[in-house]
Amino acid sequence: MQIAFVGNPNSGKTTLFNKITHQRYKTANFPGTTVEKKVYRTDIDGISTQWIDLPGTYSLHPNSSEQAVVLQYFIEETPDLVVYVLDPLELERQLLLLTQLSDLGMPIFVVFNKMDLVREHQYAVDVEEFSRIFDLPAISVSAKTGDGIDQLRERIEHFIKEKGNTLCSKKWYEAYIEKYRNVLEDLKRVLPAEDNTYRGMLLLSHHDKIAPKWLKEEDRVKLRAIVQSNHFNPIEFQIDDTLSRYGEIEHIVRRIFRKTGSHMTTTERVDRVLTHPLWGVLIFVVMMFLVFQAVFSWASIPMDAIDQGFVWLQRMVGSAMPESALRDFIVDGLLAGVQGVMVFVPQIALMFLFIVVMEKSGYLARVVFLFDGLMRRFGMDGRSLISLLSGTACAIPAIMSTRIIQDQKSRLITLFVTPLMSCSARIPVYIMLIEILIPDRLLLGWINLQGLVFLSLYILGLASAIGVAWVMKRFVRRSGVGMLTFELPMYLMPDWKVVGYEIYDKVRTFVVQAGRIIVGISIVLWFLLSYAPGDPREGTVIVKAESIETSFAASMGKIMEPVIRPIGYDWKIGIGLISAFAAREVFIGTMSTIYHVEESNPEGLKQTLLSAVDPRTGRKVFNTATTASLLIFFVLAMQCMSTLAITKKETGSWKIALLQWLVMTGLAYIAAWLVYIGLS
Ligand code: GDP
Repeated sequence: MQIAFVGNPNSGKTTLFNKITHQRYKTANFPGTTVEKKVYRTDIDGISTQWIDLPGTYSLHPNSSEQAVVLQYFIEETPDLVVYVLDPLELERQLLLLTQLSDLGMPIFVVFNKMDLVREHQYAVDVEEFSRIFDLPAISVSAKTGDGIDQLRERIEHFIKEKGNTLCSKKWYEAYIEKYRNVLEDLKRVLPAEDNTYRGMLLLSHHDKIAPKWLKEEDRVKLRAIVQSNHFNPIEFQIDDTLSRYGEIEHIVRRIFRKTGSHMTTTERVDRVLTHPLWGVLIFVVMMFLVFQAVFSWASIPMDAIDQGFVWLQRMVGSAMPESALRDFIVDGLLAGVQGVMVFVPQIALMFLFIVVMEKSGYLARVVFLFDGLMRRFGMDGRSLISLLSGTACAIPAIMSTRIIQDQKSRLITLFVTPLMSCSARIPVYIMLIEILIPDRLLLGWINLQGLVFLSLYILGLASAIGVAWVMKRFVRRSGVGMLTFELPMYLMPDWKVVGYEIYDKVRTFVVQAGRIIVGISIVLWFLLSYAPGDPREGTVIVKAESIETSFAASMGKIMEPVIRPIGYDWKIGIGLISAFAAREVFIGTMSTIYHVEESNPEGLKQTLLSAVDPRTGRKVFNTATTASLLIFFVLAMQCMSTLAITKKETGSWKIALLQWLVMTGLAYIAAWLVYIGLS
């Protein structure tokens, strides 16, 4: 016999499942997916039973691959019992899926979880009245304290021994289905074996998401024909289905869920301020400002430590090994590459610390709610804001944070435009170029001109991100549409173990997945910068480069030159751009290597760059036009292989990563060209 645990995300289903199975479950994946399933097997009076924990979902209309698994499961299986876990404090939203499962003819046992919280907030649930209205057995428990868990187990066992059956006779779809009479008639003709009306409608709406094993290709073709001949609009159906259910649920909730105390809850009081259209936005802006200050200033200490650690390690290895190509490879290639990965770890960990705490405490939901309307105009949603803002620290954690965006179209647009936000790796480049370009003057006596230009670069980044999103909104197909159900959960102290684990998980993903690619490319760059083409007359293919100027990278810079000449760059800047691909801030270092100056002496570097002359034209290399063009190029160009790697990782597609590179670099090239032409 099969027992399936179902419920909304955050209903406490996982906690309950762990408790009731004493964590003696095994994990596996749902066939053909990466979605995890937990299975617990036990014998009850000689009956072998299998208990399955399904992913949390709000509705049978999926808007993520995890939720599609739930739809798929109920299309293919009818478990012997569905244990439906509810958070009574979010009752209205949580009953939606219950009515859908009931319409599928599933035998259901309802569990009101989190009763400790319900009591604490001075509410009461009338479980008996609920059972009467829904015609379903129900029990109230607290997965956290363990209250009622034994009774729940007993009742499940009793149900199994008695081969009980709990079916609700009410058909919720009857309230709206009349509208779809013609479609239903066609359905009956095409799929005569389909005896459940609601299942048929779900098949029709989501036939493209159901695996071939469960829907024969010929049936799929027939369903598609019904959709076309009836002008059936699955989204409209989904809206009818959802709204009609909510319409009924609303009344029921009022009958079974009551407030017992009279004072306003803390959550209600806090929300008056935090979701206020003016104060809420202000508080958020100030908070974000502080978060970024913190990420910048706190991360710099461990980042320096990691940097110094690697410098020490490189020196140790360098002196311990005899001079050889292997030593150069390990010190300048491999270790330098690993260093380039590890220095990002503090920023990633800190950024996720803030995001996870905001999410788990319940604050993130308020932010999403506040900004949702505005972001939607640009094809994104409230959640996108978090990623865009994180992008000003570093695009890598920001792109990873788009996982919190449920809508796939929004998520794709957000992760695509996020690298346009000026990240912290651009700062050293901005500062150097601004110092060369802009005189240190005060405007109107009090505004620092250099600072103003600095700020405008950030605004340019934000504006182009929004612009690109606005264009993409028109081209990206919306896949797996779902109505956004807002969740304003109660404020809670985050579980620090969970926070710690999530941060660990994000850092590990970055180090392992993106790290491999970064280290790989760093090694290639090292090779290109330190080796040169050999002399075929002497029978050598490669030799160690005397200096950067004779290296492979230099030849590449020279090959690049015709392309970058129109925007004002020579081959040396070309090398800088190639090396900046490892990490943007490397640009300054490379320039300093090429122009033979000490990196630790920025004044010296500035003077050298200012006096560098292009032998071909006799003009200064870093003249106004070239420098301004470079600045604009750095704002817009996708010059960061780590970002490419993480985009590939998060979307599973090199095509999207490549397109992102093309769009950004194309935009950068055109803008840089316009600036160069305009100023020279
Ligand atoms: P899932 O998304 O449905 O699997 O939910 P989880 O099991 O991860 O629980 C979501 C949150 O609710 C966690 O922070 C749990 O600690 C908390 N939680 C779960 N059950 C209870 C409960 O009975 N009482 C209280 N107070 N919190 C609970």
